[in-house]
Amino acid sequence: MTPEFNLIKQYFTRATRDTKLGVGDDAALISLTTGMELAISADMLVAGTHFFTDCDAYQLGWKSLAVNISDMAAMGANPKWATLAIALPEINASWLAEFSRGFFACADNFSVDLIGGDTTRGPLIISVQIMGEVPIGKAIKRGGAKVGDEIWVSGKLGDAAIALQHMLGKITLPIDVLTSCAKALHEPQPRVTLGLALQDIANSAIDVSDGLLADLGHILEQSNIGAALELKRIPHSTFVDFPIDLRDESLRKMVLAGGDDYELCFTAPAEKHAEIVKLSETTKLQLSCVGHVTSDTGLVLHGLDNEILNIKETGFDHFS
Ligand code: ADP
Ligand code: MG
Repeated sequence: MTPEFNLIKQYFTRATRDTKLGVGDDAALISLTTGMELAISADMLVAGTHFFTDCDAYQLGWKSLAVNISDMAAMGANPKWATLAIALPEINASWLAEFSRGFFACADNFSVDLIGGDTTRGPLIISVQIMGEVPIGKAIKRGGAKVGDEIWVSGKLGDAAIALQHMLGKITLPIDVLTSCAKALHEPQPRVTLGLALQDIANSAIDVSDGLLADLGHILEQSNIGAALELKRIPHSTFVDFPIDLRDESLRKMVLAGGDDYELCFTAPAEKHAEIVKLSETTKLQLSCVGHVTSDTGLVLHGLDNEILNIKETGFDHFS
């Protein structure tokens, strides 16, 4: 057997759950459940651009699948199958063991089968394609937001960006804050359960990968509407030894425009408010109503003293 084939067998071949034919043939075979349609998405992670080359291999394995699963969550789809195309500069057994351990930990957590891929020598690049199922017509699109919708965000924003600023040497975090924020950066938790529950609740959704303002901007643009956001309602962590004061422009930027949060931002009719509050309780996931959709295009951000903040200063020039 060629070293490449050995590598695939050893690190990337596992028993599958719901796949007719997985790794090992010229193509994989899957069957869709009756009444479902296929949701497909891909995300590429390039060393030096999307992650530090010397980062932890387990976490990189987790994250490369998690960011793709997050796209399924944002569509209201159930993630089921993934392929992995990977370029490796060398065959490093301990790195591959850790990378695949992280990848399969995430796959097991969300019941995803790795069904194929490609392996080649080259600069470290990881390209994952994810496929999921969603009942026909139920996918939650970016273009469905309506005037009168409330705007919601899951979890907390900013932790990943705060960890990244520390790693870039721009700020210095106390160790407990770094530990907590680094976990958000390296092991994001895609909101699949929430996404599925939103099929009959949300009019639009997106996962927050580039920062709330930029990603909400995509919803606004595709739905041809505007929004008003209230800074005081934006969810973020609170640390005793690292206060996050949103009056501080650079902190505000990390929370609103930092990226890598992998939370869901969605819009839903105001009548669904109580249902969403209940959903937050059943899923044990914080859901914050952060603003509402408006008929004038553009995004207005109300500050803590109800002043109107210049969004460009927050690193957001989408509407400039
Ligand atoms: P081919 O020559 O037909 O492209 P390969 O030798 O590249 O086949 O791959 C053999 C099998 O292993 C295929 O089923 C392919 O999907 C799978 N595979 C290759 N690389 C990976 C990987 N990194 N992860 C999962 N499956 C892989
Ligand atoms: Mg191949």
